[in-house]
Amino acid sequence: MTDNVWEMTLERLDDTVSVLDLKPGTVKYLKEPRKILEISIPVKMDDGDIEIFKGYRVQHNTNRGPAKGGIRYHQDVTLDEIKALSMLMTWKCSLVNIPFGGAKGGIIVDPYKVSKRELEKLTRRYTYELLPFIGPEKDIPAPDVGTNAQIMAWIMDTYSIAKGYMVPGVVTGKPISLGGSQGREEATSRGAVYTILSALKVLGITTSNLTVAVQGFGNVGSHAAKILYDLGFKIIALSDVTGAIQSKNGIDPYKLSDFIRTKPLVDYPDAEKMDPLKFFETKCDILIPAALENQITAKNASTIKAKIIAEGANAPTTPDADPILKDNNIFIIPDVLCNSGGVTVSYFEWVQGNDAYFWSKRKVNLQLRDIMEKAFYEVYDFSKDRKLDMRNAALALAVSRVAEAMRIRGIYP
Ligand code: NAD
Repeated sequence: MTDNVWEMTLERLDDTVSVLDLKPGTVKYLKEPRKILEISIPVKMDDGDIEIFKGYRVQHNTNRGPAKGGIRYHQDVTLDEIKALSMLMTWKCSLVNIPFGGAKGGIIVDPYKVSKRELEKLTRRYTYELLPFIGPEKDIPAPDVGTNAQIMAWIMDTYSIAKGYMVPGVVTGKPISLGGSQGREEATSRGAVYTILSALKVLGITTSNLTVAVQGFGNVGSHAAKILYDLGFKIIALSDVTGAIQSKNGIDPYKLSDFIRTKPLVDYPDAEKMDPLKFFETKCDILIPAALENQITAKNASTIKAKIIAEGANAPTTPDADPILKDNNIFIIPDVLCNSGGVTVSYFEWVQGNDAYFWSKRKVNLQLRDIMEKAFYEVYDFSKDRKLDMRNAALALAVSRVAEAMRIRGIYP
């Protein structure tokens, strides 16, 4: 069994195409990223010396529209990881039926170990190198792990200066004051919560005070915890890169957010420390992996006691863990469905920016709910009709739409 996320993503695609009637050439086409850019990014650091960073942008597929996908700043970024995440973006955009293809970018850097000035220079030089590749009709980046609204603002500014006029549609996840959308920051989590509520409905779980464990307390994890807390769920375990904490009485994620502004999560006084390696053993109703890939594996899957796993992160579960979770009757809301709220509101942001007409937060959230519920029930009904698990159903629906777009467009020349 490989631990390479690109190979795992291809393995999942092979599983999916086995239930679809696709020609071998179509499958070959769907496997190959359309464009891969690898860049060396020189930055003059604060100490006056030059550091070279490695950056990537991969456009996996553009049959259904311009490429769309986040940019990750993390010390462990690899080209294979970015290729895998770009393919997942293609499936995700297709699944929620928005007119985008898939892309992803990344830079090998620990963004918390460089100064703000160095981060800005790195971002602007990376954007400059990406100029021929990106644009509102070509490829539209967004935030991912280690990037945020400020970084998106620098990308937009650099691109706009090169063009000679402001181009808000080149990037999403911008600050609201620069053409960002209401509700974008928490959109991935809000979308995930809509899928969780739909899952509870189809599973007939109506109990109140349901318990939740969230791995990762960044953009996706912290907002998911807060939205669920506001809805009356009890957050009993949380973790981030500093460690893990638990409390039978529940953790207030708002207080925790304030706390981690100055101190590590693991030192939060109103909860007990727990072994991060035992995090997934937490007895809870809903488990939300919202950190990185390959967290739920064949090694720890059998220890999971949750009723529902809502994949806030991308590719948090390895393919060899899936059959174990299935045997234990755990309902999985797969990543391409669960975390697609982020790209959905990115799409709303792109539409608003191109129209120069901005929506209220209420409108954004209502439209998001419509799209997430529709996608959830399409996947659920398809899984029942075709006797597939939720992941295979989601991927099969998504892949079939991309294959159909490709078939109708044809191959040039
Ligand atoms: P982020 O950088 O804001 O947060 C990541 C969190 O994970 C941090 O709290 C970090 O401390 C924690 N973490 C890292 N390694 C960990 C470990 N080993 N154990 C526990 N926690 C760990 O990133 P994010 O934007 O919240 O993204 C999280 C996941 O969600 C990623 O897989 C990302 O691709 C996916 N995602 C994000 C968005 C979005 O809109 N931000 C959209 C779709 C999917």
